Amino acid sequence: MTLKFKEPAPIVDHLNPLESMMQRFDEAAKILGLDESTYNALKSPEKAVIVSLPVTMDDGKVQVFQGYRVIHSSKLGPSKGGIRYSMGVNLDEVKALAAWMTWKCAVVGIPYGGAKGGIQCDPRMMSDGELERLTRSFTGAMRDVFGPEKDIPAPDMGTNPQTMAWIMDEYSKLRGEASPAVVTGKPLVLGGSLGRVEATGRGVMVSTRSAMAKLKMKPSEATCAVQGFGNVGSISAKLIEQQGVTIVAISDVSGAYHNPDGLNIEEAIDYVTNNKSLEGYKGGKIITNEALLELDVDILVPAALEDQITEENAARIKAKLIVEGANGPTASNADAILEGNGVMVVPDILANAGGVSVSYFEWVQNRLGYFWTEERVNRRADRIMKQAFDTVYKAARKHNCSLRTAAYIVAIDKVASTSKLRGIL
Ligand code: NAD
Repeated sequence: MTLKFKEPAPIVDHLNPLESMMQRFDEAAKILGLDESTYNALKSPEKAVIVSLPVTMDDGKVQVFQGYRVIHSSKLGPSKGGIRYSMGVNLDEVKALAAWMTWKCAVVGIPYGGAKGGIQCDPRMMSDGELERLTRSFTGAMRDVFGPEKDIPAPDMGTNPQTMAWIMDEYSKLRGEASPAVVTGKPLVLGGSLGRVEATGRGVMVSTRSAMAKLKMKPSEATCAVQGFGNVGSISAKLIEQQGVTIVAISDVSGAYHNPDGLNIEEAIDYVTNNKSLEGYKGGKIITNEALLELDVDILVPAALEDQITEENAARIKAKLIVEGANGPTASNADAILEGNGVMVVPDILANAGGVSVSYFEWVQNRLGYFWTEERVNRRADRIMKQAFDTVYKAARKHNCSLRTAAYIVAIDKVASTSKLRGIL
């Protein structure tokens, strides 16, 4: 039976990125002609675990936190996804982010399913001791959920390599054996991978390079603006500049900095290392973050926040190529406007998947007990990203659709056919 899809939701001013993702899922499912049972199975998470975590705070009082872990899919392999510490964490958000991980892993062809976890807390208001006790308590509660062959967490908003070190230590103690492969994003000395810090920005660069070749855009003649100058933005800018492209604008929360003759990205990175942000940076004229998005450039890399390109500003975007370093920087109601204007968009689930690809390498190295050189990590990650781009590009040609819809088609098709082969559906 072919599924009758609901009429598209009426366009609302602000779709959140997760609603945007589900709209795109629906669009791809429709093109694929997914039957109703497959559609429903793929939309529903396999497992959702909610735990209450009593933690003794520094003042001696016990506070109880809610923790979540959602396994959206383990059809392609153990599930993979970050753990978020934030006051905004709730079950619906974690469910949607877990699905997002399923599509991201599937589109780059790494043998993982998707998961996400979180604890409703404000990590900025907690001491290191409180965070450690909370993390160990969460790991204990999830001892039968996590596992190198089952479910592998990673850092996300509000968590970092130290958090992963605590999870790895607690899980190893509970199992009575060293289990470095239970988490990725660990500090290097505890089994982290070389190349992980640069991996997402590097993948953005490889995606940009592949897309430029398709558009016949010469790097030496191209200009680029990058929104966000944290891990993803600064490294993307540095590596895209190394390809010969002129970076004419960068930005962070302090504002955007524009120089039509080109910025020196190494210098800007040094500036941020010394000053914590771009505030006061003199390399370019200060403009707003909104103006940066609308600059007359060839390439735009949004690498800061979600929902930056919307129905409201999409028509004013002049870049011919957008490479989504951030998760969800384009609202779904902007897709058709960009497509109508002939803008090529390399979607987040493809463009920023270099990070999860190197997380996979970390897990592989942990299980091998043998560590690769940075050169080997980079070479293999570049290959994954290049192949994924080519697969998505081919699917876009075949279905006459955008790269975004094609990326969802590739991912959904892979998970659906694996499920059928395994006899789950
Ligand atoms: P980060 O915290 O290192 O950097 C975020 C940057 O965005 C900072 O420069 C910050 O000043 C800037 N910023 C914040 N608010 C802004 C605003 N209103 N306007 C302009 N700039 C603003 O974070 P990150 O790790 O670079 O992540 C950036 C995005 O990439 C997020 O959407 C994240 O989910 C996504 N992402 C990150 C990774 C990774 O490996 N780090 C992987 C996949 C996706």
